[in-house]
Amino acid sequence: MSKVKIKELLQTPATGQEVNVKGWVRTKREGKNVAFIAINDGSTIHNIQAVADVQLLGEDALKLVTTGACLSVTGQLVASQGAGQSVEVMAQRIDVYGAADPEKYPLQPKKHSLEFLREIAHLRPRTNTFGAVFRIRHAMAFAVHQYFNDRGFFCLHTPIITGSDAEGAGEMFRVTTLDPLRPPRNEDGTVDYRRDFFGKETNLTVSGQLEGELGALALSQVYTFGPTFRAENSNTPRHLAEFWMIEPEMAFYDLQDNMDLAENFLKYLVQYALDHCLDDLTFLENRLIEEEKTRKKEEQSPMGLLEKLRFVVESQFERLTYTEAVAILIKSKANQKGQFHFPVGWGTDLQSEHERYLVEKHFKKPVILTNYPKAIKAFYMKQDEDGKTVRAMDVLFPGIGEIIGGSQREENYDKLSARVREMGIHEESLWWYLETRKYGTAPHSGFGLGFERLILFVTGLSNIRDVIPFPRTPQNAEF
Ligand code: ATP
Ligand code: MN
Repeated sequence: MSKVKIKELLQTPATGQEVNVKGWVRTKREGKNVAFIAINDGSTIHNIQAVADVQLLGEDALKLVTTGACLSVTGQLVASQGAGQSVEVMAQRIDVYGAADPEKYPLQPKKHSLEFLREIAHLRPRTNTFGAVFRIRHAMAFAVHQYFNDRGFFCLHTPIITGSDAEGAGEMFRVTTLDPLRPPRNEDGTVDYRRDFFGKETNLTVSGQLEGELGALALSQVYTFGPTFRAENSNTPRHLAEFWMIEPEMAFYDLQDNMDLAENFLKYLVQYALDHCLDDLTFLENRLIEEEKTRKKEEQSPMGLLEKLRFVVESQFERLTYTEAVAILIKSKANQKGQFHFPVGWGTDLQSEHERYLVEKHFKKPVILTNYPKAIKAFYMKQDEDGKTVRAMDVLFPGIGEIIGGSQREENYDKLSARVREMGIHEESLWWYLETRKYGTAPHSGFGLGFERLILFVTGLSNIRDVIPFPRTPQNAEF
């Protein structure tokens, strides 16, 4: 008799065959003669019920069967008498792998706040909510590779340790093996990084894009999907210090092609979740409905989770320029009534409140903003003819704000190196990047999708700390 995942078991017709289930106890209800044990093994949101005869198994043995304990249950698979499940296991034998002292086990079967569960991130995968989130996260990671593989993109692993600080000056985590108390020093007292492990200053990457471009200018279409690190001290519900990013780079794509790909990709991922994660999404939708009941009417969202996901798949994303968006924001009621915390005006970066106004109040659907002022965007973006803007695009989502940032890349060597100097970037550290524009340059584009922002959207959760197994944020690297 082989052990079977609960997900499969629940789909198996009950013919009285003997089965073995292994998993963790969610709840136990005890009657005089029988105990009902709900077991979950993480393969699905649903539990299987084991029915245990107290006389047969012994009262003492059943004492160890408490919430959180890990069991192996062997018995007959039978049609369930009770409502809520089609099959159940009539236990003939129960082995307890690990008991969980009910006086101490932190995850008793009652409602816990997400804040509390963050403090026990080592146990929270055992809750329904986090089981659902992490299964969906897996499905989305799989779908990312599926999408690109189906379209002839190659997965390129870009480095995690980087020697170029071009993108994120001041926002990077240093990587060093030098003794912090006694580092080697130059004559002027500064640290001599030539004697560090790599012979130069190194950091954790903030993006795989620059190396991704090198790949695209040879393999035509590539993508990276890796961890990125930002030492920005922004304690927001949408920022992590360590997050995962998906970055496709495509030769021969202009900004239009780039937008088309981004929109198609996002819709594919959301549709994939609807097709493959319906049980988990339904659970999360109901959870959200319960949570919303505690909120004020005006803060409740007009759509349920599934409806919101279907809506995104079906709607055509609104595309407009940054300049057009700023005009809308300036004229908006919210602005006239002074409801924005940050001022809007041409030339300043849009804050998440502005992005969300455009998406949630004005257009009521996802929005792609393009052609931002060059002063607020990175050096590598292709410059527009007007000399003021660059071919940037940000995709904005309801409840999230920016989910994708991308651009057509500057392929002209003279323009690119002039911009590098203009922005005071250390040109020598980028020699390899600039050389691709000297030899066989090509028009090309790409973007970065923040994986956790996608998971936030798909799960309907509101804090990014709840969609990554072990979040890293300022002052927090536990687990
Ligand atoms: P934001 O303005 O929201 O900080 P950004 O402009 O810094 O975003 P990019 O540098 O364009 O973002 O990065 C690409 C994508 O990575 C973003 O669209 C977003 O989805 C995601 N992202 C950026 N910073 C973070 C972060 N600290 N934590 C999680 N995801 C992030
Ligand atoms: Mn940022």
